[in-house]
Amino acid sequence: MENDSSTKHVVLVTGGTGLVGKGIKYVVENGEKRENESWVFLSSKDADLTDYESTKAVFAKHKPTHVIHLAAKVGGLYGNLRANLEFFRQNMTINDNVLQNAYQNGAQKVVSCLSTCIFPDKTSYPINETMLHKGPPHDSNYGYSYAKRMIDVMNRGYSQDCDCKYTSVIPCNIFGPHDNYNIEDGHVLPGLMHKIYKAKLEGKPLTVWGTGKPLRQFIYSRDLARLMIWTLREYNEPEPIILSVGEEDEISIRNAAEKVAKAMNFTKELIFDTEKADGQYKKTADNSKLRKYLPDFKFTPIDVALKETCDWFVDNYEIARK
Ligand code: NAP
Ligand code: GDP
Repeated sequence: MENDSSTKHVVLVTGGTGLVGKGIKYVVENGEKRENESWVFLSSKDADLTDYESTKAVFAKHKPTHVIHLAAKVGGLYGNLRANLEFFRQNMTINDNVLQNAYQNGAQKVVSCLSTCIFPDKTSYPINETMLHKGPPHDSNYGYSYAKRMIDVMNRGYSQDCDCKYTSVIPCNIFGPHDNYNIEDGHVLPGLMHKIYKAKLEGKPLTVWGTGKPLRQFIYSRDLARLMIWTLREYNEPEPIILSVGEEDEISIRNAAEKVAKAMNFTKELIFDTEKADGQYKKTADNSKLRKYLPDFKFTPIDVALKETCDWFVDNYEIARK
């Protein structure tokens, strides 16, 4: 998105009320908004994007020049294990509806969101952008993964056949304010925050699910927001780009749980329930493509970002999604 102040840009963010959408809204409202831009953040109340007519109406209403497409059925390991078919169907439908309506309303640029958890399960490490389709994803989330991979196929088509700049980003695990803190269906960090909140009230230890051995890279939603806005404005390849902290910042689930416990001043024992699935052992992502473009980008240190997130959760417990 060139910074030409004479051209009016309407940026439509689908999934604008979720973890990443709220992160982008925060960054836009705290200095990133440009004079010629208007930003629209959609929730499922504005349009059910699984419904073609509803999607068509919301795109016709806003006529976006640019789209950040975040809306998706999203869940943690245990949510995915229970509902692979539903993850596949809803996400396939949402993605087709959004990209087609963006195109029909003349949107020049669309940035959609994939995930490092959709890469082949049997692979070499670190994973890079060229490896997305080279083997089946992990069994636990095959529905979500194949649906997300099809966004890359559609981007190729819209770029080749329709001369559009439709692309995607591949974030690692994300955390921050406004996450889904549901213990059964959400991701590990918000799940641990909620469990610790309860354990503190009940004076009990924390139960971490699985062995604690799997490795993950975690990105703060507000850092990802800054990178996604950069992608919208400056990144012009149809091929995806990994938006992740470096390989050196990968940590074990045990270490992540200890960090959350520290951020929440939780001093009781950590117990590991090894009857529960571990999911993928690791999905170490290579961020060197990003580093080529933005060598000086500074990620918020994880302890600082976790403290901000835990404080937000405790302060907003009543309204938090859980
Ligand atoms: P999230 O917090 O669960 O938010 C999902 C958003 O999508 C909400 O705004 C929700 O609207 C909207 N939505 C869901 N179904 C919809 C529908 N049928 N119609 C319209 N809107 C709908 O998700 P997130 O964590 O921000 O994820 C954003 C993107 O990042 C997703 O594409 C996800 O796949 C990707 N991603 C997430 C992670 C992660 O760790 N969280 C990691 C990698 C990639 P309501 O608020 O109205 O329900
Ligand atoms: P993933 O990164 O896509 O596998 O999804 P998650 O964020 O749900 O899980 C990451 C890892 O955290 C897995 O190895 C889980 O076994 C582990 N884990 C430990 N405790 C929890 C918890 O309370 N909730 C979730 N979702 N995962 C947990």
